[in-house]
Amino acid sequence: MTITDGPVLTMPGAPVAFHVMAKPTGAICNLDCEYCFFLSKEMLYPGSRFRMAAELQETYIRQLMAAHARAPEVTVAWQGGEPTMMGLDFFRRSVELEREHARPGQRVLNTIQTNGTLLDDEWGAFLAENGFLVGISIDGPRELHDTYRVDKGGKPTFDRVIRGLDVLKRHGVDWNVLTTIHAANGEHGRAVYTFLRDELGATFIQFIPIVERATEQTLPIAEAGWGGPGRPLYIQDGNLVTHRSVGPGQYGRFMIDVFEEWVRRDIGTVYVQMFDTALASFHGEPGGMCVHAETCGQQVALEHTGDLYSCDHYVEPGYLLGNIGERPLLELIVLPQQHEFGQAKRDTLTRYCLDCEVRFACNGGCPKDRFAATPDGEPGLHYLCPSYKDFFGHVTEPMRAMSGLLRAGRPPADLMASYASADARRGRNDPCPCASGRKWKRCHGAAPQAS
Ligand code: SF4
Ligand code: SF4
Repeated sequence: MTITDGPVLTMPGAPVAFHVMAKPTGAICNLDCEYCFFLSKEMLYPGSRFRMAAELQETYIRQLMAAHARAPEVTVAWQGGEPTMMGLDFFRRSVELEREHARPGQRVLNTIQTNGTLLDDEWGAFLAENGFLVGISIDGPRELHDTYRVDKGGKPTFDRVIRGLDVLKRHGVDWNVLTTIHAANGEHGRAVYTFLRDELGATFIQFIPIVERATEQTLPIAEAGWGGPGRPLYIQDGNLVTHRSVGPGQYGRFMIDVFEEWVRRDIGTVYVQMFDTALASFHGEPGGMCVHAETCGQQVALEHTGDLYSCDHYVEPGYLLGNIGERPLLELIVLPQQHEFGQAKRDTLTRYCLDCEVRFACNGGCPKDRFAATPDGEPGLHYLCPSYKDFFGHVTEPMRAMSGLLRAGRPPADLMASYASADARRGRNDPCPCASGRKWKRCHGAAPQAS
């Protein structure tokens, strides 16, 4: 039951703000990245044109603005598939609709996640003019990027992505990088990070681990990639992973490798989402990454048909909340099933997690990847637990130090001076503090290698 007639302004239990990832082309993409199991979601809508209709676009923007009536800012987030395949006119219309339906004083932030390959100067001018924040997917230097990020013909995409990024830079568009961590780049944390920082000039970086689940039945097919005909629909099932997936301990090693570079040179100038989230937790505040939040359920996914799902990672029949053409967005968000979905993240933690000393920062990770067993055999542990334990353990001291600086009214960047003086006392042949087992002079004590 809504409190107001007409547009839904608020409902009992409704959040002030929530996040919707809208997929105007569904799972359709012009590339065929081998690890992208989202490509298989095409099978949910057989016969569809995979284009969000103009009428639905208006319904969506109107409902989103109304549902955020109490929030000072609303984010309109487009992703895919590849959202730029909708063409510029779709986004021009979207901005018009936002202007039409925004409440007085309500700020609107547009974001778009793209592989960058279709961007040209017309796009650049539009994105800049309308203040879009653009996330661009790059997996590191050419060789590492091209291992899995290929087009429909299996051709590398690196040059096309860099051309797209150049468009953004030329037009002064606000951009950040999303880099996935997988078997190919998993042992190259520092090299990937310094490439993004030094070669691309990235100052906002999101790292996302690739974990492709499979069962004994689906594994042989999944190994070939998710985009081809006859592939199974990816659902969160099975306790096997493909060969492209990052190893259970590899993601942690990657992040520590990056951290040891970042903590010496880049605190305060380069934003790495995982480090920021960890610092927030150590400082007693909520962080920005849903996977390490205590509960979830306020990040839903909207398909091109208006179907709303519990989360972008649960676009599968069992997690369909309803269709916004039939029932307003806000009514779907407050459904008991969505509440239970979000609370289950906390309520299903293993005893091993409950007793873990870094649980306050880790929170057991995203439920989608909790298919491992604890050392005493309890099912439901996160596949990346060894990585999480390693990473949060490794950063405990510096995170506490940065939190202490914040409490003292000083910038966390002051920590870099302590690292510099400790490094000055370190012998060239001493073991590197990143715990790689290599000597300092051959690890983080060496200048970053040019890619
Ligand atoms: S299910 Fe996972 S990805 Fe989705 S909101 Fe929860 S933690 Fe985040
Ligand atoms: S580090 Fe492992 S045991 Fe600790 S909370 Fe995270 S997943 Fe659970």
